[in-house]
Amino acid sequence: MRDLMDAIGSIISRIRGSTLIDEETLRSILRDLQRALIRADVDVKLVYELTKSIEEEFKEAKELPPGLTAKDYLVYLLYRKLTDLLGGDKEPDVEVKTKPYILMLVGTEGSGKTTTAGKLANFYIKRGLKVGLIETDTIRPGAFDQLRQLAERVKAMFFGDPSLGNAVNIAKAGLSRMISSKADLIIIDTAGRHRNEEELLSEVKEIYEAVKPNEVMLVVDATNGKQVGAQAEAFSKYVPVNSIFITKLDSTAKGGGALVSAVKTGARIKFIGNGEDIEDIEVFNPRRFVARLMG
Ligand code: GDP
Repeated sequence: MRDLMDAIGSIISRIRGSTLIDEETLRSILRDLQRALIRADVDVKLVYELTKSIEEEFKEAKELPPGLTAKDYLVYLLYRKLTDLLGGDKEPDVEVKTKPYILMLVGTEGSGKTTTAGKLANFYIKRGLKVGLIETDTIRPGAFDQLRQLAERVKAMFFGDPSLGNAVNIAKAGLSRMISSKADLIIIDTAGRHRNEEELLSEVKEIYEAVKPNEVMLVVDATNGKQVGAQAEAFSKYVPVNSIFITKLDSTAKGGGALVSAVKTGARIKFIGNGEDIEDIEVFNPRRFVARLMG
């Protein structure tokens, strides 16, 4: 995030340091903003829409509330538009409202799905829920053992059975096991790679239809930059993507992919991952995120 944060920070200082925000200053500030966002992998079209709406609203504002200068108003607009892009004012609701609640994780291999399944299990176990983890990935060697060990560590129930042969059968068997064990939250991890993309996405869709999850969460790797938007779009053609988990925000200077995945799917970013440890999970806070961006 550093680059984008620095760039936005210096745009804010520029606004504050200007004696007058005339047409030309406004244009040049918005151009700086465009450049910073595009460099951070935010979709170009989106960037233009955002800067255009800031420009229009700024120009349309006839009377500012007493005490508010044009500079303050421009900073405020910038802050509000960036926050809106990420889901508005509030933190996302992460409460589990119905039980058992079935949460299916999707995403490409290496995005951090299995690690994230463990983090989420830990997060909800600490909130008093009984959590079951199901591994349906039969493609990536190691996924099964990885999730089984994470389950042991956080004291979640675990189901996985590669001998069942296919992911849909594993998902169904796991689901009935978890339901009879009275799990409150059932998290299903899925494969992130297949012989080809079509096969992967079709499998994801079949699992979706077999288990009818309450929520599909797309796990995206913040370090994947521009690819993230395309991935989000591909998954959302096959299954409804309800929420997003952004991983690896600790290891990238860029976070624009995060914005794009949210916009492409219309889903809200719910959590972020900021490290490899099980505890490295945070509820996404758009305001805090933008405030950090703006320094
Ligand atoms: P999967 O293929 O999607 O199941 O991905 P994994 O869960 O195996 O994760 C791939 C790699 O990303 C592993 O080395 C994880 O430790 C790492 N990883 C996952 N989440 C994060 C995160 O938030 N930050 C960092 N730095 N690494 C992460």
